Amino acid sequence: MSDSFRAILASDVEGKAVAQMTDMSVADLPTEGVLIDVAFSALNYKDGLALNGNLGKVMRSLPMIPGIDLSGTVLESPDSRFRPGDEVLVTGWGLSETEWGGFGQRARVKADFLTKIPGGLDLKRAMAIGTAGFTAMLSVMALDDHQVTKDQSPVLVTGAAGGVGSVAVAVLVANGYRVAASTGRAETHDYLKSLGAEEIIERAELAQAGRPLDKERWAGVVDTVGSQTLATALAQVVRHGSVAACGLAGGSDLPTTVLPFILRGVNLLGIDSVYCPAERRERAWQRLAAELPREKLDAMTEVIPFDALIERSKLILKGQVRGRTVVDLRA
Ligand code: NDP
Repeated sequence: MSDSFRAILASDVEGKAVAQMTDMSVADLPTEGVLIDVAFSALNYKDGLALNGNLGKVMRSLPMIPGIDLSGTVLESPDSRFRPGDEVLVTGWGLSETEWGGFGQRARVKADFLTKIPGGLDLKRAMAIGTAGFTAMLSVMALDDHQVTKDQSPVLVTGAAGGVGSVAVAVLVANGYRVAASTGRAETHDYLKSLGAEEIIERAELAQAGRPLDKERWAGVVDTVGSQTLATALAQVVRHGSVAACGLAGGSDLPTTVLPFILRGVNLLGIDSVYCPAERRERAWQRLAAELPREKLDAMTEVIPFDALIERSKLILKGQVRGRTVVDLRA
């Protein structure tokens, strides 16, 4: 197999961080870890930041191949847990921050970061899920752990037509939760209903400040937006309900009061997919393989060729990408 491959390399060009497609050699990769023939990666919000001038905020050192997700086949492994031919995936673990990532046709990654593709998934569908879908499942697991009720009020998903939101809707519905999907895009209403949402909430409704304690509407919340949207949602959660906070698409601030916590016992649960411990990670992937309906996953996924990635990444920062975008590194 040839030592040369194509990759997007982010480097410091005269004081400016620039990401561009280039030809590289396996000898250019980090020297330690498992060598992988990368088949697919994915486009996540954080990848949009890395590819569009916010390199410094995501990547801690340059040059680096960005990309927080990858799936592929093991070519060489110094670690007895993996053998050539094994199909593996990586999400998070500092890829595209402190570790080289998945936007190259070859990657060398620490063995501890690798997850074997769970039975029932393949390399492409693993990336259709990717960090976004994995984060959605961690959010649902957090709500499950806190006994969010299924038979009364719905669970609210914010930023529902995005990657995390779409998978969260589908997984919640598959688990018997009623789902209210909040979106700012009218053209996604039918899509969200096809994923199983029973109610659509306008984004603008949650984006405005309300009372510190409002009418109880939501048994639980998966929030990808943050800021005023999260504050409004917290004020509308039922007594002893729970909110999984996983995103900041609308801002990283949180203009709230302690009232939902001390008067209604609402739980605010933080979700970190990057350094999620291996055992919980394994459980999340097993659940994704078992519970996420394939036809819904396929319906929310678009596959693009590697060459189209840099251009497409501009759209995710504008909130214009629907569902999940898989990058085919072999196309
Ligand atoms: P996407 O861009 O696919 O989805 C984000 C969605 O948020 C958009 O589709 C849009 O949904 C909504 N949105 C966008 N801009 C705004 C805005 N200004 N105000 C309100 N809503 C907005 O991104 P991902 O699904 O990949 O990621 C979602 C968020 O989760 C990001 O902030 C990301 O950084 C975070 N994240 C966190 C992880 C963790 O480990 N905690 C892991 C993965 C992601 P709609 O059109 O339906 O309104």
